[in-house]
Amino acid sequence: MAIILLFLICVQPEKTSRRLDKILTSHLPHYYVDFRSPGGMYDTLRPELLTATDQERARMKIDPTAVVSWDLFRNNQLPYLEVRRPFILGLAKRQWKPTLSHCFLSMLSEKNILRRIYTQNIDGLDYQLDRVPKDKIVPVHGSLGRTQCEFCEAEMDTQEFHDLLEEHIKDIYDLPNVKAPADSTPILCKHCGNPGIKPATVLYGRSLPSMFFEKVQEDLPVCDLCIVIGTSLTVFPAASIPSSIPKTTPRVLINRDEVGEFDFNSGRDTFLQGDADDVVLDLLRELGWLGEFKKKYPNYLS
Ligand SMILES: [Zn+2]
Repeated sequence: MAIILLFLICVQPEKTSRRLDKILTSHLPHYYVDFRSPGGMYDTLRPELLTATDQERARMKIDPTAVVSWDLFRNNQLPYLEVRRPFILGLAKRQWKPTLSHCFLSMLSEKNILRRIYTQNIDGLDYQLDRVPKDKIVPVHGSLGRTQCEFCEAEMDTQEFHDLLEEHIKDIYDLPNVKAPADSTPILCKHCGNPGIKPATVLYGRSLPSMFFEKVQEDLPVCDLCIVIGTSLTVFPAASIPSSIPKTTPRVLINRDEVGEFDFNSGRDTFLQGDADDVVLDLLRELGWLGEFKKKYPNYLS
């Protein structure tokens, strides 16, 4: 059986999930940067701290999303790297770990019933799932789990990038015990020589990864179960996936609220309401997989 899973907790590029947000709020309250949540980038971005021209600062003041736009990045890469530094390094040090729902995906993959994970999360946690081959993951808005040059798309080893980030990019958040230079200097691509090295996330003004368009063509016609987890299904084109699969393919929505164009009276669609991890735990129980899950992921269940 082929399954397509949409793991769309993040509803906008460069915007974190509520789940991750909760984790971040408890562990990293003042320097994780999100856009629209209270305390997020709209409230807190301080262009005066960033390495930028007066004109660039004025622009970021009016529109904080400029810091993650191609328009600004192609001329000056440092603001992006300075803003993202703690989140990138925090993920690298595994300050945040995959959730129980992520482990469920791992289990599906091991049982050979997972066709693909389409994720709008950029946190790269999916790539920490040892049992899910990388080609089964489609990070629709890119991922912090991979590093590449924005100019020539050459990949860089992510560990090497993290070392360079620590060495080249200053800490604008004034964090305790942080190794950082006083001033930022560009990180150059070894392939094209341009300073375009960054996590492989999609900047505003850039196209989605070609992998997305390739995989939906392969997957959608043969999808025989579509599970949608934790998303508002408002950001296209990923949000159109559930309505683009064969009309008879069953769909399951696991979410706090009803979203998208499901018809729960049709007999085709099922709504499992609640927090993803709680619902997935019930599913594991119903499937008779709980014992196996406990053995494989003992830290996820008390
Ligand atoms: Zn390059």
